[in-house]
Amino acid sequence: MKITKISVNHDKTFTVEVAQAQASSTTTYYNGGVEGRSFSAWYDRVLAVEMPRLMSQPAAVATNSPASNDPARLSKPDSDALSNLCTNCSLCCNGSLFKRLPITLEESRRLGDGIDVFPKGGELRMRLGCTRLGNDGCCKAYAIRPAICSSYRCGLLKKAAAGEIEPEFAARVVHETKAMQERAIQAFQTAMPENLEISAEKTALAAVERYREGRGKGMDVRPHARANAWLHFEYFEKFVEINFSVRLES
Ligand code: SF4
Ligand code: SF4
Repeated sequence: MKITKISVNHDKTFTVEVAQAQASSTTTYYNGGVEGRSFSAWYDRVLAVEMPRLMSQPAAVATNSPASNDPARLSKPDSDALSNLCTNCSLCCNGSLFKRLPITLEESRRLGDGIDVFPKGGELRMRLGCTRLGNDGCCKAYAIRPAICSSYRCGLLKKAAAGEIEPEFAARVVHETKAMQERAIQAFQTAMPENLEISAEKTALAAVERYREGRGKGMDVRPHARANAWLHFEYFEKFVEINFSVRLES
């Protein structure tokens, strides 16, 4: 069995699509309508328990495309496909998954002007989104990028590289992650007082920060919109954790 898709629905359910040797099926898990922070408790109690059980089923090749019937394709993914996955994603560079990365003085000098470096706990950090990320999703400083950038691989990329998931599935996860992030940003935009705005260009992490600033200033915030924004953010947060093996620092 192979999980091909996990999606979050508007009615607060998760749909898990599973491909088996000859067929595929979907199972929907309803979270009882819990919202806000209680979503995490529901997730830990229900879905996190179900996932290892589903994942422990014997793996089978999905049969919905000719390419996926070729075992060699799953064991040796196309390097172009992996490269395309990252250039179409950029979530680890653009500030969606991390707010900062560790950098040495030498690396920061090498990158030159226009990067935001600050000390933290006796070490240096560079603030993300990175100004060296091109509009095409490629690193404009590829040859001189920091060591952490060369070595980092998120859980999604590792699974795609190992052939545990197909690049096409990984690409769908990236697409869904971006859509969930956008919904979270929009929800915080709605929850913000009218005189404070969250730019649609920013990440969900930045939206949370901005929202907290607004709350810190004692602004009047609509309670229903606030709950809705947190729910969207927590969907996004859990989706990132499940698929990228990254815990957001919110
Ligand atoms: S988050 Fe993962 S898939 Fe996306 S660019 Fe970074 S390493 Fe690649
Ligand atoms: S230097 Fe390049 S690889 Fe590193 S965070 Fe910036 S854009 Fe990404």
